[in-house]
Amino acid sequence: MFLDKLPADEIVPFTFKVQYRRPVMVRTLSLRTCAVKVMDEMDDTERAAEFTGDALEMEPAFATAAPVKQAPSKKSASLLREQVLEIHHYTDKLFSFRTTRTQSFRFQSGQFAMIGLEVAGRPLLRAYSICSAYYDEWLEFFSIKVPEGPLTSRLQHIKPGDEILINPKPTGTLLLGNLRPGKRLFLLATGTGFAPFASLLRDPDIYEAFDAVYIVYGCRLAAELEYATGVTIDVREHELLGELAADKLHYYASVTREPYHHQGRITDLIENGRLFADLGVPGLDAQNDRVMICGNPDMTAQLRAMLGARDFLEGSSTVPGDFVVEKAFADR
Ligand SMILES: Cc1cc2nc3c(=O)[nH]c(=O)nc-3n(C[C@H](O)[C@H](O)[C@H](O)COP(=O)(O)OP(=O)(O)OC[C@H]3O[C@@H](n4cnc5c(N)ncnc54)[C@H](O)[C@@H]3O)c2cc1C
Repeated sequence: MFLDKLPADEIVPFTFKVQYRRPVMVRTLSLRTCAVKVMDEMDDTERAAEFTGDALEMEPAFATAAPVKQAPSKKSASLLREQVLEIHHYTDKLFSFRTTRTQSFRFQSGQFAMIGLEVAGRPLLRAYSICSAYYDEWLEFFSIKVPEGPLTSRLQHIKPGDEILINPKPTGTLLLGNLRPGKRLFLLATGTGFAPFASLLRDPDIYEAFDAVYIVYGCRLAAELEYATGVTIDVREHELLGELAADKLHYYASVTREPYHHQGRITDLIENGRLFADLGVPGLDAQNDRVMICGNPDMTAQLRAMLGARDFLEGSSTVPGDFVVEKAFADR
């Protein structure tokens, strides 16, 4: 049963049956519960079909011709149309933006959705991790700027009020539910791979589920760390989350292409033990540690192999494991 097809007054009684310690989050927690129910009713094949079908059909070539007015396609009509609220540029390669959020759009922390722009009357969509919290009233995204990229060469120029298309069926593997219970959670990211972790760091559940949460973030230049650093500070200073996260959330940022107090690739920092020495904690152990990975394809492949060699089992929506992986982008 899809809850967004129910009249709003049928959802409300369910909402207030949920018991939760922090009253301000009662409504938002129940929204998440609704989202979990909806996703649970689709199996993996259905989710993949939803995603792949959209990705294939909605990827027109880089259009250079003048826009031609066309009637919206059936697929386009099913997309949500959100308005850009604000944009923040960090470097010549990275920016973030917020949009309005249609109330019926539900997602779980760590998921991605197909989002984009209408170009020449057709949707031009790409996979984007959702950075905002499941309870926020807006949607937030953290984006690369690829100079010749079909989408981001345009997306980087958006202004408040512009329209962003969003497929209302998010998916993804970086979910708390895909991990077995553990004591420490390591979130390993490079570049825009931090995006799904922004949403997870804003989710009170991860601080309930783990004794310690380590965000380990690698970029080429120190200026590229700004978005992740800002999110982490916001979480620590948040009036409700801050209390939960204060003693548990640890941020370790490393830079590869210029001097910085932590330097080197995440894979090397794990392999040579530097990461753990700097943090003053023991190295990875499959018994107690759980890991989520999102970054460039080489990094994700190497980390998958390194964890496999340490007896970590990869988790999925069918069998929870010790680690889960999502590529931050696909190599073409
Ligand atoms: C599951 C998933 C989640 C994603 N989440 C995000 C996200 O939250 N933010 C985001 O900016 N991108 C994300 N991407 C990548 C995104 O889908 C697009 O590839 C990106 O927006 C560029 O689109 P484009 O059309 O301009 O260029 P594309 O034709 O899609 O890409 C051109 C080339 O640019 C490089 N590239 C693409 N994306 C990135 C990136 N993020 N970082 C570094 N190099 C890249 C690759 O070499 C790629 O071959 C995600 C991809 C996947 C598969």
